[in-house]
Amino acid sequence: MLAARYIEPYKIEINQEELPKINQNEALIKVKSSGICGTDFHIFKGDIKGLVKPRTILGHEFAGIIEEIYDNNIKKIDLNIGDSVAIEPNLFCGYCHFCRNAKKHFCENWSAIGLSRDGGFAEYCVVPIKAIYKIPKGLDFQTAAFFEPMACVLHGIERSRINIGDIVVIQGAGSIGLLYVQALKYLSVDKIIISDIDSDKLKIAEKFGAHVVINPNEENIIEVVKTETDGKGAQVFIDAAGSLSSIPLGLKLLENTGKILIFGVPPENRSVDIIPYEIYRREIEIIGSFTNPYTNEAALKFLKKIDIKPILTNKIKLKNIIEDGFNQIGKKGVIKVQIQND
Ligand SMILES: [Zn+2]
Ligand SMILES: [Zn+2]
Repeated sequence: MLAARYIEPYKIEINQEELPKINQNEALIKVKSSGICGTDFHIFKGDIKGLVKPRTILGHEFAGIIEEIYDNNIKKIDLNIGDSVAIEPNLFCGYCHFCRNAKKHFCENWSAIGLSRDGGFAEYCVVPIKAIYKIPKGLDFQTAAFFEPMACVLHGIERSRINIGDIVVIQGAGSIGLLYVQALKYLSVDKIIISDIDSDKLKIAEKFGAHVVINPNEENIIEVVKTETDGKGAQVFIDAAGSLSSIPLGLKLLENTGKILIFGVPPENRSVDIIPYEIYRREIEIIGSFTNPYTNEAALKFLKKIDIKPILTNKIKLKNIIEDGFNQIGKKGVIKVQIQND
């Protein structure tokens, strides 16, 4: 099989390899669609070092077909050769403190497909059976490869406790921001306001139903939000860009009791100035959202409702993962890059 192995920053080796063997409770997946995530891009650039073992095949957002499955005796599991499936990359131990207290995303023995073991930037991938979710009938592989980011977005929505009638401001109209817009349409929020410096992305957001789009290079976001909320401020601010400015900006855009959701991954070691008195006096909530515990099945169902076509801007071949993939991320017009294997 063809596989793209991460060696070191800016170095990925693409070679023909032997098909990997499956062990007990594992299956071999023929990878059909495999998305490049911001995390993969950060690893490629060397921004994130500890998370990944050298010589690992990256790729944790993928869908495909079960090619081989260990003949096991797990009861009540309906998975068979030929099934179309999506993969949940996070693997949990089940016996640490966090796993035992419904907080498995903080598992002390956490590992992940595409980070600590080989992932989906290959033609085939071995995964534990517990990571496999059968995809609904009629759902294509390209949409199914949005399974993990969609589940993360649904966790963010759970965390932010958005109410009917809320006005929500989203910072960033990349693939995550655009998934948020589509999900929020189903929540009967009063208004979705989204900001991005790329006007083309804002056009897509509008098509998905964002009520107000703001390009902060052209308009003052604080003024626009003030006008759109009759001077009161919004109820929820979602950072989908990993911007350092999210907390200070959110404080300016929200009404008292408003919530700031830190969803995008901010720089690891940078701080911002806030006035704790303001958080106290205005009952502002600052909320984190990390990965996708317990939202996978909901995400699978919800994927049928979303449109990924305008988000999936670049469909590439595995052998061109560097030139057509990593080297394109961040360029104008590029939102989501996905590898397609025939
Ligand atoms: Zn990811
Ligand atoms: Zn655990």
